[in-house]
Amino acid sequence: MGKRNPIMLEDAQAHLDKMEFCLKTERIRAEEALGRVCAQDIRAQMDQPPFPRSPLDGYAVRSRDISEASGESPVKLKVIEHIYAGMFPSRCIQAGEAARIMTGAPIPEGADCIIMQEKTDEGEERVEIYDSVPAFGNYCFKGEDTETGAFLFGQGMELKAAHIGILFSQGIREIEVYRRPVIGIMATGDELTEADKKLLPGKIYDSNGPLLTARIKELGMEPRLFSQGQDNEYVLAERVGAALKECDVLITSGGVSVGARDCMPETAQILGAHILFHGINIRPGSPMMVMTAGGKPVFCLSGNPFAAAATFEVLVRPVLERMRGRSDWKPEIYKGILETPFPKPSPLRRLVRAKIEDGRIWLPEGKHSSGMLVSMAQCNCLVDIPAGSQKLEAGAMVSVIRM
Ligand code: AMP
Ligand code: MG
Repeated sequence: MGKRNPIMLEDAQAHLDKMEFCLKTERIRAEEALGRVCAQDIRAQMDQPPFPRSPLDGYAVRSRDISEASGESPVKLKVIEHIYAGMFPSRCIQAGEAARIMTGAPIPEGADCIIMQEKTDEGEERVEIYDSVPAFGNYCFKGEDTETGAFLFGQGMELKAAHIGILFSQGIREIEVYRRPVIGIMATGDELTEADKKLLPGKIYDSNGPLLTARIKELGMEPRLFSQGQDNEYVLAERVGAALKECDVLITSGGVSVGARDCMPETAQILGAHILFHGINIRPGSPMMVMTAGGKPVFCLSGNPFAAAATFEVLVRPVLERMRGRSDWKPEIYKGILETPFPKPSPLRRLVRAKIEDGRIWLPEGKHSSGMLVSMAQCNCLVDIPAGSQKLEAGAMVSVIRM
């Protein structure tokens, strides 16, 4: 136990893909559904719009009545009623008749087109028409946005503002969504100090816990930050065990490497956890370990801040997305041209923080080491450098994973 047997990133991902979760659902109000993942297929309950309607302010007419109309020889029609949005026509349009109509108002029966008011004299009781319109010109059909029964969006969809609008347009007031998994985070290490405590010699503030908590929130998930764990396998086993009672998945940082006080592997043993893998052939974050304890996944990330952040993106996030119901979630991967050279060869697959904009990729100046955090402030992606690459020149085409 504790002896590392590094595997390839793809194999690690394959292990994680095999994890199965029993996803629970709940019914919530449509206005609460933003950022949640849909657990049902949504079909239209009604035609939208529910009636044929005018797309502009003008007159509802019969196209054949105005087929000869022009500026020189206007057609005169009798205006039989005024229909504003929210009203419903009371009469059918007969030959020689028109109805004044405003945008969004129902088109009366008998009329098959709308002439815009700018092409008329805007008369109140009689109107002169100066142009023709083909049948069904300026005519919004009943159900043209969606017809009753039509598929609107499906299970696994992360709900954005547009989906909320669609639900409301259909009068749908409740929706079945997946329950949000509670994602526990625990930073471990004897050097760690909580934010509002005084920093004593040899100590540092914990940034991994807050960073991962914020990232999980940013991704629309529910984090729970537990108090820091120590570099002692018995204390850690107790803390991890207790945390697992309150969350669906736990992410730890620190204590997975080969140092004398890296006691996560012993902790796993005490907990009777099943280790999926320990050690992975990527840089940074290679010491990471994944186990299941009490049936729940525990991701033990390296404590180095960039290592923890990068391995979270490529290995933890995909599992979390599945756990919240996004079964076909895929990372956003782009190709781009490197604007900044990367001076080192990469015997192992390497993830380098960078900024991508319009297909051009910049690396932060100077400081890249996995213990360094500050240059992440400018970054929005990870450059994915294949194992065995030589140094990369500016102009090289590379692949990036969006963060
Ligand atoms: P470890 O993975 O425990 O060997 O830690 C690797 C490096 O990351 C050490 O320099 C730690 O002090 C640092 N480190 C570990 N945990 C954290 C944390 N939560 N926040 C900031 N730095 C950390
Ligand atoms: Mg440590």
